[in-house]
Amino acid sequence: ASVPGWAKDLVVATDTAFVPFEFKQGDRYVGFDIDLWDAIAKDMGVTYKLQPMDFNGIIPGLQTHQVDVGIAGITIKDERRRAVDFSDPYYDSGLLFIVPKGSAIKSGADLKGKVLAVKTGTASVDYAKANFPDAELRLFPNIDNAYLEVQTGRADAALHDAPNVLYFIKTNGQGKVQAVGPQLQAQQYGMAFEKGSELREKVNASLAKLKANGTYKAIYAKWFGEEP
Ligand code: GLN
Repeated sequence: ASVPGWAKDLVVATDTAFVPFEFKQGDRYVGFDIDLWDAIAKDMGVTYKLQPMDFNGIIPGLQTHQVDVGIAGITIKDERRRAVDFSDPYYDSGLLFIVPKGSAIKSGADLKGKVLAVKTGTASVDYAKANFPDAELRLFPNIDNAYLEVQTGRADAALHDAPNVLYFIKTNGQGKVQAVGPQLQAQQYGMAFEKGSELREKVNASLAKLKANGTYKAIYAKWFGEEP
């Protein structure tokens, strides 16, 4: 949708479940992305409605003008840049394995013939295909289901974004699973827009302002503690 004057609510696509960036608490969506976007929208003076959807649907939703913005811990990747425009990066990330406690898997080298759970359409899928060709990939639209497979021993490991893995273990791991490092594939998250969207520059200006005035830092501290 084009947005001269932003007469209508912007439609903001987010993931259904990607702790602690966006997740459902009671009947509300909360998280780092949700707070950051809300602060950006307030600064821009726009109203919006959130539209949670499978991660895999966000970029197609932007390309077909169903949604105006995507904020879902979306990794900035060259192949995605061909489909959408990205904001300036707003979060540094990477990938980690999550395995049952006591697992013999210490790194990607131990994955031969092992079941590796990954989330459909994410950067982890590409990374795993390129780097662990001997693993048996199992795809899940929702990463929480992949982690459940690891907790119950039906998958040997899962690979996903480090902050998500660490937050999940802290809040839902119940002593059954652990992260295996080091972090792989240094990457950054960006908000996504349809190609040529006028929103991009406005959002970048607001993001820069929130970084300069301490708002970004406060939101970061709320969800992750002190910035590294
Ligand atoms: N950062 C990952 C990607 O963009 C996954 C994000 C998510 O699961 N929401 O591919």
